[in-house]
Amino acid sequence: MIQTIRGTRDILPEDIPLWHRIEDVAREAFRRYGFAEIRTPIIEKTELFARGVGESTDIVNKEMYTFVDRAREDRDGESITLRPENTASVVRAYLQHKMFADRSPGELTRLYYVGPMFRRERPQAGRYRQFYQIGAEVMGDSDDPAIEAEVIEMLDWFLRELGITETTLLINSVGDATLREEYLGRLRVAIEPDLSRYCADCHHRYKTNALRVFDCKNPDCRPLIAGLPTITDSLDGASREHFEQFKAHLDARGITYTVQPEMVRGLDYYTRTAFEIIGSTGLGAQNTIVGGGRYDGLAETLGGPPTKGFGFAFGLDRMVMALPETISRDLRAAGAPDIFVVCMGEAARQHAYHVVRELRRAGLVVILDFADRKMKKAMALADKSRARHALIIGENEVNEGRYALKNLTSGEQESLAVSDIIIKLQRN
Ligand code: AMP
Repeated sequence: MIQTIRGTRDILPEDIPLWHRIEDVAREAFRRYGFAEIRTPIIEKTELFARGVGESTDIVNKEMYTFVDRAREDRDGESITLRPENTASVVRAYLQHKMFADRSPGELTRLYYVGPMFRRERPQAGRYRQFYQIGAEVMGDSDDPAIEAEVIEMLDWFLRELGITETTLLINSVGDATLREEYLGRLRVAIEPDLSRYCADCHHRYKTNALRVFDCKNPDCRPLIAGLPTITDSLDGASREHFEQFKAHLDARGITYTVQPEMVRGLDYYTRTAFEIIGSTGLGAQNTIVGGGRYDGLAETLGGPPTKGFGFAFGLDRMVMALPETISRDLRAAGAPDIFVVCMGEAARQHAYHVVRELRRAGLVVILDFADRKMKKAMALADKSRARHALIIGENEVNEGRYALKNLTSGEQESLAVSDIIIKLQRN
């Protein structure tokens, strides 16, 4: 039997109501805050991610699904990649479609996306090779920290609306590109004397991108890392001021946060503000549900004009896991049919086709059992379908034009005409 590829999975019908709920609340948040949806291709030129996300990141180095597309006319083919994230693609689209043209100063483009991403990571609970993200980007010529606070306020509303309340907002500033370069030098110098005591992964990070040592979870490395200088300590005046203003904007909105100087994020394009939202329940080790930050300069890296940008992405897979149990249970139950129709005999079934059509036209969720069964077996199936009611149609019912509606929770039963069934169940 053929099974799913490692790190991928089917999202089964019983979980779909949870996914829909998260998508619906996200779309509502985006609607209120003026974001429009964009859908970019799942495959892009490899170069987009190599340049955008950064050659030295784990994502580009070892996690991308890259292959040569030989369908091209030229014989060498073209290297293409399944998108590992969507910010680079959205910025590409922003540039490609010249969304920045005819701009007033300070005018912003607000875009959001929903869809699958692909990274060849070691699969574990909450970490998949095909996972789903919902994300948003704000682009333009302004880097006002108020934009950042507004985006976080939107996320705050979104999480509350979903009932996900036990979260922590971690913030940091990673400075601008020049500072990063300078800081990287100092970081290397600080690591070097103890290099032999770090793990093999950290050795590799030291060589390729020393900033990444802060991601190390190895218990032997943690005490060493704790003693390293942080980027936050080395911020230049302008970045420091930006960070102070960002915090003041969060304070003004009553949003609580923790400054986490070691939080540097896994993508190269971040400048200044970086943030994560950590969930507490249902998540295990992979408890980062939202990640985001500022990426001024990314557009230039991709060949565009100077552009400021700020955005985030959250993992739908992890958001589903973070939903409180009671809410998940209610969402699953809400997906149950209103009525399961049981017919006694062929004439009743022929009649039922019309009844069922009317009920559905009135908006009710109706399942019609097509097989001939004994009453007991049919009622067992009605229970199994989790329907709230069974509607029993037999010869007598056909003649009277009234049908037996049984409440499957209370066991109560009454005889009603179609119009009364509609009134009764719609009201509920
Ligand atoms: P990133 O694009 O790495 O900043 O990740 C943003 C968010 O996407 C994370 O906080 C997770 O919620 C989610 N995410 C990233 N990688 C994975 C993965 N391999 N499996 C599931 N969710 C992921």
